[in-house]
Amino acid sequence: MKQSPARSYRSKKHPNVASVMNPEIIQHYHAHVYYDPVSSRDRAARLREHVAAAFPGVTLGRWHDTPVGPHTQSMYQLAFPPSLLASFLPWLMLNREGLSILLHPGTGDAYADHTDHAVWLGSAVPLRVNVLRKSRKTPAARNHLFRR
Ligand code: ZN
Repeated sequence: MKQSPARSYRSKKHPNVASVMNPEIIQHYHAHVYYDPVSSRDRAARLREHVAAAFPGVTLGRWHDTPVGPHTQSMYQLAFPPSLLASFLPWLMLNREGLSILLHPGTGDAYADHTDHAVWLGSAVPLRVNVLRKSRKTPAARNHLFRR
């Protein structure tokens, strides 16, 4: 069985930094596509069709007209492997139909993935982060680095 990569390591480039996170721990990515059921569901549907046609490796999640989990607006999720990031991200940047998209890695720490590790395309949508589980494996060094 393949050993899982180390969560963090000391950087040779930045020896003064206690540790940096290892991107190899990213198991997948999610792109959460937000829409309004009345005013932008049609654009969300168009984007979804285009994604399905251009990226068969992307898994289309269910429509959630009613907000679920940390999400405070209607959305659906696009899940994809790390190998697709370099081609799918620029495509999303150019074709997001004006919708807000939360792109985040899956490292096993749902809280950090949706907050510290996340990037937004378009304007950010508030999240209910208190419903997200924090990883018990989170090393203290990482907290030291990234918490302000
Ligand atoms: Zn997600």
